[in-house]
Amino acid sequence: MSVKLSNGKTIPIEMHKVRIVQKARLAPVHDRLRAIEEGGYNTFLLRTRDVFMDMLTDSGTNAMSDNQLAAMMVSDDAYAGSESFYKLADAVREVFGLEYLLPVHQGRAAEHLLSKVFVKPGHAVPMNYHFTTTKAHFELAGGKVLEIFGEEALNTQSTDPFKGNLDPAKFEAVIREWGAERIPFVRMEATTNLIGGQPFSMANLRGVKEIASQHGIPLVLDASLISENAYFIHKREAGYATASIRGIIREMMSYADICYLSGRKSCSVRGGLIATNNKQYFEAIRPWLPVYEGFLTYGGMSAKEVEAMAVGIREMTELEVAGSSADLIEYFAGRLLESGVPVVTPPGGLACHVDATRFLPHIPQAEYPAGALAAAIYISSGIRSMERGTVSSDRDEAGNDVLSDLELARLAVPRRVYTISHVEYAVDRLTWLHAHRELVKGLTFVEEPPVLRFFFGRLQPIANWGADLAAAFEADFGPDC
Ligand SMILES: *Cc1c(COP(=O)(O)O)cnc(C)c1O
Repeated sequence: MSVKLSNGKTIPIEMHKVRIVQKARLAPVHDRLRAIEEGGYNTFLLRTRDVFMDMLTDSGTNAMSDNQLAAMMVSDDAYAGSESFYKLADAVREVFGLEYLLPVHQGRAAEHLLSKVFVKPGHAVPMNYHFTTTKAHFELAGGKVLEIFGEEALNTQSTDPFKGNLDPAKFEAVIREWGAERIPFVRMEATTNLIGGQPFSMANLRGVKEIASQHGIPLVLDASLISENAYFIHKREAGYATASIRGIIREMMSYADICYLSGRKSCSVRGGLIATNNKQYFEAIRPWLPVYEGFLTYGGMSAKEVEAMAVGIREMTELEVAGSSADLIEYFAGRLLESGVPVVTPPGGLACHVDATRFLPHIPQAEYPAGALAAAIYISSGIRSMERGTVSSDRDEAGNDVLSDLELARLAVPRRVYTISHVEYAVDRLTWLHAHRELVKGLTFVEEPPVLRFFFGRLQPIANWGADLAAAFEADFGPDC
């Protein structure tokens, strides 16, 4: 929701009251420098006590509603046949229109089960864009991930409202090249995470489904951020301005043969699920659920989270909930643009993405500009963002860096957690950093894990630039800020 002020400006407005709070601490700049050094210049390795605004991710960090918390109190912890499971199944049937439900402990567990059952060596899985855990699981199963996005997807200065679209012509070419029998499914990811939280249009989803159907290829929908994608369809796509979020989600689901999601995003809980109307798919996956996750009626989730997820699935269909972070992100990105800080446009659905390629043009990709930017943002603000660039892509078989398509520092906006004054603080410190960008240099790896290296990898700053940046900050703001 936004409101128009009497001066003509529009601001996002919170359609909720804050009734439970968590104390925040802004560590002074010298403590921040020490913390990032101890964390190997990797924001994943910071401790919460050293973080002022945690914009690492929107995953599992959203504010829950009073009704979600209330639902947790009446959860049924039965190992089998839990009533909580049936409440979640009712919500999935009511909102998604899907009959068969398999709960899992989080989104990547759904990806693991889907790749275990459907992806075989020699297979290719076309998709609008990969997600880190998706790619890892599909490749571990022997499949090849084919990203077939449109021309605008990787343009960080775009006006295309649907950069998350899959390119239908490329999809047809992939089918001709690989043959439908080697394509277990096509995957569409809502509010495409790694290209900046960008949506696909309903027309695109419908078109992809049509092509897939002609070749007997199932469509798998990654619905982790579905309510934001539905919100963008509502706001940006012709013909949907009067459609409800619930109606849009329902139509999206009608094109999916299998839906899976991480409940940590749009649903504001911690958990995940797979749902389908296809009994054969359900029965093919079900035997593996107790092997890897837990019995069918909890799937590795706590019963409390199962209850809260049932409420979250219904609440995310409310316009104010679906748009709560998207509206704040639009404001955040707009304010940064006004200040000359390069951000990805149009603004997306889970985060404000700062373009490290344009912010730090003097740092070559081999020296990880996005990683350097995330560390620099932390030193100059106490805000924790996430590197989404070459550090986040693992080396190839020959041991070479795989240069990422984009170098982004992702400032996630967890749903209903931060306010405009937080955002204004972030804008101010990023603007200061931008004016001092020449102080920031690249990074090199000190310790590098073989898979998903961005989680535990440790790096060091070239020419110890972190100390120089902290000194410049202290000169401007004093030692206590
Ligand atoms: C977060 C996410 C996942 C993985 O889910 P986890 O709950 O983190 O395991 C998969 N796909 C998308 C689009 C996501 O955003």
